[in-house]
Amino acid sequence: MALYKTDAIVLGHRNLGEADKILTLFSPDRGKIHAVARGVRRPRNPILAGSQLFSYSRFLIVEGRNLDSISQCEIKESFYRIRQNLESMAYGLYFAELLRASTPIEDKNRELFRFFLKTLYLLQEWENKEVLARIYEVKLMAIQGFAPEVFSCVSCGQSPSSSIYFSPSMGGILCFNCHKTDENAVSISSETLVAFQKMLMQTYEKLKNINISKYTREQLSNILSLFISHQIDRKLKTVQFIKDIKRLNIISSV
Ligand SMILES: [Zn+2]
Repeated sequence: MALYKTDAIVLGHRNLGEADKILTLFSPDRGKIHAVARGVRRPRNPILAGSQLFSYSRFLIVEGRNLDSISQCEIKESFYRIRQNLESMAYGLYFAELLRASTPIEDKNRELFRFFLKTLYLLQEWENKEVLARIYEVKLMAIQGFAPEVFSCVSCGQSPSSSIYFSPSMGGILCFNCHKTDENAVSISSETLVAFQKMLMQTYEKLKNINISKYTREQLSNILSLFISHQIDRKLKTVQFIKDIKRLNIISSV
């Protein structure tokens, strides 16, 4: 039996049989791995803590003919604060789903792994999680090779100064003269465009204190969701979950 060691984050899990779980792990060396965690639904199982959603561990895995299985795990970061808070949990699930949907992550990708891990650390402490989600979307799309063009018109190449549009299908902005090239292009305010550009160019650290008005947050959310649905051809289940939680928050704060 071949054994291998790898760092990995738990991206998902589902029950198997009486007491087992199949974990979906994201590893910097191997990409996505499915592995059985045996007996993990019983109390005091040694892999229990490491099988929690988002937990980040060093795993020792036994290669199987059909499915690998986890032999040991040593936790590096449990990310329990994400699981303790419903809003953080909803965003964490969304981040994981978007990661899986935007790439066949079977391929190893260290940059993508480091970026995702960093996002989980930030999710624990970032005040406005909605803004973090927008930054994550922009940066993730760029890492995956779908960076939107937000500096010059995707049709004529000029830098527009006013009356700017965004074309989700062309993946960038259109100037006033070109905006009819795509009948589904949507208007984008200059404030939203500046926020978009910053999210693409600046680091998470620099963006920590970014101040974005409610209008811009809503416009950016709408534009990015149109853009992402053009890049990935599946519906994201967690989007509705976040909306539901937001509605609950509004109700409880009235
Ligand atoms: Zn143009």
